Amino acid sequence: MTTPTDNPRMPDFEALADKALSGGILSREEALGILRAADAELPALLAAAWRVRRHFHGNKVKVHVLMNAKRGACAEDCGFCAQSSKATKELEPYKLESADQIVKEAEMAHQRGAWKFCIVTATRGPSDADLDVLCDAVRRIKASVPIRVCTSLGLLTVPRAKRLAEAGVDRFNHNLESSERFFPEVCTTHSWKDRIDTLRTAKAAGMELCSGGIVGMGETSEDVADLALAVRELGVSSIPVNFLMESWSGTPKAATSAPSTPAYCLKVLCLFRLLNPDKDIRAAAGREEKLGALQPMALYAANSIFTDGYLNTPGQGVEADLKMIRDLGFETVQEAAQAQMTA
Ligand code: SF4
Repeated sequence: MTTPTDNPRMPDFEALADKALSGGILSREEALGILRAADAELPALLAAAWRVRRHFHGNKVKVHVLMNAKRGACAEDCGFCAQSSKATKELEPYKLESADQIVKEAEMAHQRGAWKFCIVTATRGPSDADLDVLCDAVRRIKASVPIRVCTSLGLLTVPRAKRLAEAGVDRFNHNLESSERFFPEVCTTHSWKDRIDTLRTAKAAGMELCSGGIVGMGETSEDVADLALAVRELGVSSIPVNFLMESWSGTPKAATSAPSTPAYCLKVLCLFRLLNPDKDIRAAAGREEKLGALQPMALYAANSIFTDGYLNTPGQGVEADLKMIRDLGFETVQEAAQAQMTA
């Protein structure tokens, strides 16, 4: 199992919440205490995470929609990724979608109530020709669709980051995926430092940062804690927490990793909340499959989700996501903005 839960001493979760709310940073030991807490302590942990989440985000949920704008045939060997040319899963690749199609999908995302539209391409990094299309699309979206834009395009050079920022990209995503220690077991074609460099380049160009990782690849709790500490240090605005799904069959990590339990997945979300109190924590891919019946509880720690599926796998659907949000007594930031305008 990747989910040790045999910590004999229950951490004082309320004291950790107080620390987070007063600007303190949880120590590595405190972070590990959260991940190693007994499952029976989950209600107390969730209550502490909720107190912090409510302080900074109220009952609002930021809904994101992903577009896989260029799929598959990636030369990199990220061991969790079905779009790697090393993966055995049969995934029909396609080249970069047209700017017209990207704009159309941004409009559809807005109609579905999305706060942010995330354009993703499977690649080590964007070519200048692809950037021509992407920057054209982003300019048109920013001129006509009231939605924020994030791009996730692999590794960036300084000139390419500047082009994206000038086109109007609000936020750049590049996940660290795991700890520096574990990353070489995930990927050998680029390094964790390459990823850090890209995040710093994107930030220097003026874009907000989005960076998180994947849980359940065979990493230890120490690796998860170190990832949470690393994204805090980078000052990212948004942290997607993905859970490796068995349905990502055909990837080396899905074939070899032990599955995470729903309780462990919740503990991870609580850890990210307590370490990154005011940031957007997103219960990302694997939310439905790995959290199972505990899925709605994710929103007591996280304040953001993807709706309408992921890059290569479907989610539970927009209607089910919105119903879950409303059943919890929460509302999307889009709904809250519309209600304010009509009040
Ligand atoms: S660089 Fe991105 S698309 Fe390519 S294998 Fe890695 S995660 Fe997948």
